[in-house]
Amino acid sequence: MRYGVAFTDKIHFNFIKHLLRDDGQEDLCFGLWNPGYGKNKHTAIVYKVIYPKKNERKVHGNVGFLSNYLERVIGLALKENAGIAFLHSHPHSGWQNMSYVDKKSEERMAKIIFSATDLPLIGLTSSNNEIWSARFWIKSKHGVYKKHWCESVKILGNSLIINYNENLLPLPRFKEELRRTFSAWGHDKQSNLMRLKVGIVGLGSVGSIVAESLARMGVANIKLIDFDYIKRKNLDRCLHANSNDIGKLKTEIVAESISKSATADNFKVLKINYSIVEEKGFREALDCDILFSCVDRPWARQVLNFIAYSYLIPVIDGGIIVGTNKDKTDLTGADWKAHIASPGRRCLECLNQFNSSVVSAEMNGKFEDLSYINSLDDNHVIKRNENVFAFSLSLASMEIMQLLSMVINPCGVSNVGRQNYHFVTGKMDVDEGGICNNDCPYTQLIAKGDNSGVKLTGKDLKAEKIRSKYLNINKNILYFTSKLFNKFIKY
Ligand SMILES: [Zn+2]
Ligand SMILES: [Zn+2]
Repeated sequence: MRYGVAFTDKIHFNFIKHLLRDDGQEDLCFGLWNPGYGKNKHTAIVYKVIYPKKNERKVHGNVGFLSNYLERVIGLALKENAGIAFLHSHPHSGWQNMSYVDKKSEERMAKIIFSATDLPLIGLTSSNNEIWSARFWIKSKHGVYKKHWCESVKILGNSLIINYNENLLPLPRFKEELRRTFSAWGHDKQSNLMRLKVGIVGLGSVGSIVAESLARMGVANIKLIDFDYIKRKNLDRCLHANSNDIGKLKTEIVAESISKSATADNFKVLKINYSIVEEKGFREALDCDILFSCVDRPWARQVLNFIAYSYLIPVIDGGIIVGTNKDKTDLTGADWKAHIASPGRRCLECLNQFNSSVVSAEMNGKFEDLSYINSLDDNHVIKRNENVFAFSLSLASMEIMQLLSMVINPCGVSNVGRQNYHFVTGKMDVDEGGICNNDCPYTQLIAKGDNSGVKLTGKDLKAEKIRSKYLNINKNILYFTSKLFNKFIKY
């Protein structure tokens, strides 16, 4: 299992304001967190600061707190069904290790906190230059509390700042293959980009181009999430696919190709043949630092939107709309939009990227029902599928630029707003600083993680159908090869 901590920049500033004192003394406080448990990574999403009151801690000499402070925090945590984080500061810079006293006191606290809340204590240390280190204190089989270092602490605002634990995710070395990329923004920013764990949901035309770009730019960990396979009609748009690939899984084709073009050392690509709307695909996505939404179905978009706010995993999304005249002899419009759904920015529902009533039709299996599809207007969102490789190329590029703004933060600009490009006029509109509608439910879900009480995943009939078909094909291949093998043994 991997471990991590995430919080918004607002929470970060509140902690820092309290912990980094003008008199240079160390200080401490508590926070509350909600679990965001992915398939292979557990994240503590810290959402509240609980400042000490008068007579709850002493600052001079070695900083310490009194038992009434911890008792009050446990009471608050139990009320909110939350975990407890303990935070303190060190007067040194960079990623902080723990002193003997730190270890002993957190170990002791871990036992009390786990017995009360059933959740591990999360310990965090901030340096004097606002870098965090963090650990989970987990009860072992023998009842001993052991610390498990987090690989990163993520601070999400307009920009995505990640403090990496270099023992677990070492600084990438400079490579000749990436000389031009490194020289564009320097070693630090390139190292942050390379250590990001990026998930790409949907490997159609846009997703396959995004995957190739990330691999070439040196991103070392890419997770491909798609259950579908290549059909003949995809060949005009899916990068890397050719006629020999018809019938093969999209994840297979893309993974094989980007492994060849990847420039990072120890490049890892994971293939997840589930839909994001299935619990298994959803949990795989929660392991990522950032997600690309390259899907065309509304339910998938709704789940991704939920992940962006509830789990603090920014989702880069886009869409292409092509308009033709009645007899389909001329193009009347082609527009594509790129934006990021993340707390403080407008969500995908408020951007009209999906509509809840269409989502419920999809959840009820209507998209697999031909009579339902035939009954829809030709302009309905699920029937509009005109697209051209060049349009996808441009959109994929705009989505990657959104990622780069957020992570590289050039000249301090990390939020360029929603971009909308119009092919016919060659103009681009930019909608800066948009926020959600007043009644948007997603803003109520920020940092709630697994405690949101919302479940959007379910049975995806299309994904199940395709997987069972593949399982049968694989069984046949297995049977065939074992027959051959027997023959070989005989002779
Ligand atoms: Zn310390
Ligand atoms: Zn919204």
